[in-house]
Amino acid sequence: MEVAFRPEFDEERERLSFCFTCEDCAHFDDGTGECLHGFPNAMHRLARYVRDPRPATIVFCKDFDLA
Ligand code: SF4
Repeated sequence: MEVAFRPEFDEERERLSFCFTCEDCAHFDDGTGECLHGFPNAMHRLARYVRDPRPATIVFCKDFDLA
């Protein structure tokens, strides 16, 4: 699912400890940085959401599974 990025998202993500990126997913290999399902994951990695400029959209992975 892809939604428009809003400036408020940064504050909301911090306040709610919102987990949605690969780094918090049970299917993430933190040794290689790859998805264990072989999905392309650059759009789901935390780095995309913390560097400037922020992305135009937030892309949620349908297979995210909280680790
Ligand atoms: S299932 Fe989705 S969120 Fe989880 S590691 Fe793979 S690409 Fe990332």
